[in-house]
Amino acid sequence: MTEIEQVRLDMGSFEVNSYVVHAPGGDLVVDAGAEPEKILAVLQKPVVAILITHGHPDHVGALEDVRRETDAPVYAHPADADGAGVQDYEPLRDEEDLVMAGETFHVLHTPGHSPGSVTFVVGKDQIVGDLILPGSVGRTDLSGASWEEIEVSLRRVMPLWDGSTRLYAGHGPILEAMEELRGNPYLPLGVV
Ligand SMILES: [Zn+2]
Ligand SMILES: [Zn+2]
Repeated sequence: MTEIEQVRLDMGSFEVNSYVVHAPGGDLVVDAGAEPEKILAVLQKPVVAILITHGHPDHVGALEDVRRETDAPVYAHPADADGAGVQDYEPLRDEEDLVMAGETFHVLHTPGHSPGSVTFVVGKDQIVGDLILPGSVGRTDLSGASWEEIEVSLRRVMPLWDGSTRLYAGHGPILEAMEELRGNPYLPLGVV
């Protein structure tokens, strides 16, 4: 049974989340923004891969430290990885299924907050990066960001939600999708 563990990292003026997915056959790290020792401390099994939701510095700042300590391959979307200076990565593709450590990670390319943002669908749960934040969505006032694209992306991830879906966002607590649906004014209506 796969478990997704949140690791809250201190960036000084704000917090960012990394996630460690404890899958049947190993661990995966999703994002590594800072404080690599905190991420490494919650590992239970060998790390089979490091997945990147998007290339902003608060999500990749500790990537090379975690890569060096785990020797795991890095997966990222090319539309963000190149601009973020991520070297030697496996390119993520929309709608692909990554089967790793006995778990399936369905990849959705969900741009808007950044051109190469992706969502990882794990069972009914979703690791959304900064696509959705508590009561909000990712900033669109950054270069390469687009509100129109965020809305298209939301309309792709939301139909997969049901009463058990949890959202693992880049900042803030783990979210219950149905609570977010009721309380988040940025989510389009009538999609779920
Ligand atoms: Zn971001
Ligand atoms: Zn972020």
